[in-house]
Amino acid sequence: MNETIRADFPILSQQVYGHPLVYLDNAATTQKPRSVVEAIAQQYYTTNANVHRGVHYLSQQATDLHEAARERVRRFINANKASEIVFTRGTTEAINLLATSGGEAFLNEGDEVIVSEMEHHSNIVPWQLLRQRKGIVIKPCPITDQGALDMEALARLFTPRTRLVSLCHVSNVLGTVNPIRQIAEMVHAHGALLAVDAAQSVPHRRVDVQEMGCDFLSFSGHKAYGPTGIGVLYGREALLEQMPPYQGGGEMIARVSFEKTTYAQLPYKFEAGTPDYVGSHALAVALDYMENLGLETIAAHERTITDYATARLSTIPGLRIYGTTADKEAVIAFNIEGIHPLDLGTLLDRLGIAIRTGHHCAEPLMKRFGTEGMARASFALYTTRAEIDQLVGAIERVRKMF
Ligand code: PMP
Repeated sequence: MNETIRADFPILSQQVYGHPLVYLDNAATTQKPRSVVEAIAQQYYTTNANVHRGVHYLSQQATDLHEAARERVRRFINANKASEIVFTRGTTEAINLLATSGGEAFLNEGDEVIVSEMEHHSNIVPWQLLRQRKGIVIKPCPITDQGALDMEALARLFTPRTRLVSLCHVSNVLGTVNPIRQIAEMVHAHGALLAVDAAQSVPHRRVDVQEMGCDFLSFSGHKAYGPTGIGVLYGREALLEQMPPYQGGGEMIARVSFEKTTYAQLPYKFEAGTPDYVGSHALAVALDYMENLGLETIAAHERTITDYATARLSTIPGLRIYGTTADKEAVIAFNIEGIHPLDLGTLLDRLGIAIRTGHHCAEPLMKRFGTEGMARASFALYTTRAEIDQLVGAIERVRKMF
């Protein structure tokens, strides 16, 4: 399966510093299959016009593609209605939209938002901005030494002031998969809302918002084989209806006068300005690509690669893996005794191997594990065992230098 799949990703066949590229930074962004790149070119060559505004042929074609993409996303995450799919620039903008607009609608001074110690900064800082504006309280849920959410501690954090719980589905560092369905039941029993950051789950496993029982969910196209600059905020219709617009401008209005402006219906109320209609279509093509391969097939392949990499890395003396829960996604964060992760990353790069090093936009998590940074190898549907062997071999070479 791998050779034909790798041929779909021309970028993977290049050399870096005279070595075949081994791209293991997929949690930061995935590479794009030919079909996605070609969809972008084709749209600019044949179907480019601004959407929703024109009566002319091209504008209608572009609008149809954009709205078909919304429906494609709806189907992919099994939302009830396409109007529950708001296009954003990515996960970060989706969470900022929620914190700003949802913060206005649902949160008052003294109300509490629960996040966790394993959150990406994009699921921490927007809530801190809201804290500055409205005086909400942010309560971080601790995690265990294995990197699991501490469910008993979570249960204890709820008070009558808890309004919202905002958690990642999958940690971008530990790979931990949080039990969202179980958490949703807990959250709703307390009369609160649940927002899920699915940036690291959508690329790897089936995400079904109805089955998960979440109220909001966000993800980024570029981490799921789609283009940069497009992402999604899903929200339950009844909740989105209560939220004020996020930005003002074209597209999001019904009528405008200097005295009074009325807003467009969902989801356009949240989509001010010209949307990334080329990106939305290319995202739909990326989702097609994943579904054509089969989400279960992708997940099974990545499971094999992750297990293999875990086993091989574990044989390296002094190597510690962070995040050792049983249900873990295709990412391995680690440190090697006596080698700074930045040195490791830099030296591996000279051998053609792209990993990520640093705090991974999760400084509180680094603090939790008492480290400044970690190295991280993250996998995708095109990652091969041979690449894992190259990683391990290269780490062994680097170790001999220290
Ligand atoms: N949440 C998680 C868990 C992530 O891994 C990332 C990206 N590293 C983000 C949010 C932010 O995504 P984006 O930069 O695409 O907005």
